[in-house]
Amino acid sequence: MKKKIKVWFLSAEVAPFAKTGGLGDVAGALPKALAKLGVDVRICLPLYGLIDRRAYQIKPLKTTAIVNWSTGAEKIRIYQTRLPGSQVPVYLLDHLFLNTATIYLQPNDPDDKPNRKIDDVRKFSFFTKAALAAAEALKFQPEIIHCHDWHTALVQHLLHQWPSDFYEVSRVVYTIHNLANQGWAGHNIVRWAGLKNWQGDLNFMAEGIKTADWVTTVSPSYAQEILSRPLDAGLGRYLRQRRRNLSGIINGIDVVEYNPAQDKNIVKKFSAQTLERKKINKLALQKELGLKQDANIPLAGLISRLVWQKGLELFDQQMIKRNCQWVFLGTGEPRYEKQLAALAAKYPDRISAQIKFNDRLAHQIYASADIFLVPSRFEPCGLTQMMAMRYGAVPIVRSTGGLKDTVNKNNGFLFNKLTKTEFYSTIDKALDEYGQRPAIWRQRQLVGMNQDWSWNEPAKEYLRLYRRLLQ
Ligand code: ADP
Repeated sequence: MKKKIKVWFLSAEVAPFAKTGGLGDVAGALPKALAKLGVDVRICLPLYGLIDRRAYQIKPLKTTAIVNWSTGAEKIRIYQTRLPGSQVPVYLLDHLFLNTATIYLQPNDPDDKPNRKIDDVRKFSFFTKAALAAAEALKFQPEIIHCHDWHTALVQHLLHQWPSDFYEVSRVVYTIHNLANQGWAGHNIVRWAGLKNWQGDLNFMAEGIKTADWVTTVSPSYAQEILSRPLDAGLGRYLRQRRRNLSGIINGIDVVEYNPAQDKNIVKKFSAQTLERKKINKLALQKELGLKQDANIPLAGLISRLVWQKGLELFDQQMIKRNCQWVFLGTGEPRYEKQLAALAAKYPDRISAQIKFNDRLAHQIYASADIFLVPSRFEPCGLTQMMAMRYGAVPIVRSTGGLKDTVNKNNGFLFNKLTKTEFYSTIDKALDEYGQRPAIWRQRQLVGMNQDWSWNEPAKEYLRLYRRLLQ
């Protein structure tokens, strides 16, 4: 039997404890799939103030860790629980710099503890060092340190100056979930973080790309796209230098959490065999959101962070010319929140804009929607289109990144240019099929529902990569 590989898995978000988007989903699901393959994977994240310690049975350990920081020797309290639905150990680190009320704190947000003097780059550089100190304190010697996005990109840099030989055997895998968020620190922070041999400003994402033993990103198409403009986000030079050590592994979704046949969040459970029950969810959602209750009118959904990346400027008065209802769930930039809220206020029986983060409602929308919209400008992988397909909603997506790798002419609709003309004509094509050719529509739903969106295959690819790095 092959020896169990030990993996220290570092992420700023881990569902269900703390999530704002896809990063949280991945960190909450991939480790479960790796554990099933026999990997000894353990997760580490900050113990944010928002995390419900009681609900997740998060308990303090006797072991503590010390981080030598510019502010002195900082003591970290280590808490532990398991990833729900699995035996995967999760370690949560508690310290004044880490237990912020929210996951991300923008530079100008008022903090709940003003004396903390922390911002995201300070917080996550501290977390990364704390996570390394914690594994050593726990005597968990990882062969692989798998870190995610800019927040934990400094691992290799910190390992190079690590005072003991504890990490001598460790290899670093760095996964890019979104190149657009890079983490940028001025010289004062570099000093604060106590990084040695450093001059000038620091781009966390660039550092992760340059130093990791292997770089992955979350779909094969995105791995290609980021090698050149415009999707390289200014880092093409570094990415091209690493192209022999860069690969794309498509994300999966948590098919237990997102399963219409067993989902406690939805009004009526259903499967590919009982697809007509989906309409009961639609009627309930229409009622809940104050839309006109009609089982036959097509309903289009969108669930997203409301940011520039997501192509939201496409939504305007033209929506109302179609015989269709529209449901939006999201939070983000005020300009998009206002735009969608204004449309909903004007046409309340046809458009609903839910400007909030609500997991239950997200599930109910996947279960109710006939059509699911992901018109992203770029999309590293995208999970919502897969979740939608699992619930029999047909996706209409822009042909980019992971959307292109998961949606095709058999399970959904793609459009190329981010223009209103292409977008609305694709919607018209879908609406026409929905109304005029129900058998073809149903076939499309079934293709999506019966596809394997689980983490089984992607986890095997990560395991192959770990093994290769340890040869
Ligand atoms: P990104 O990582 O860019 O945010 P993804 O498609 O990879 O996009 O993942 C988005 C995840 O966040 C999905 O699980 C989606 O259901 C969830 N999500 C996004 N916005 C909301 C919201 N307002 N309420 C509930 N869930 C949301």
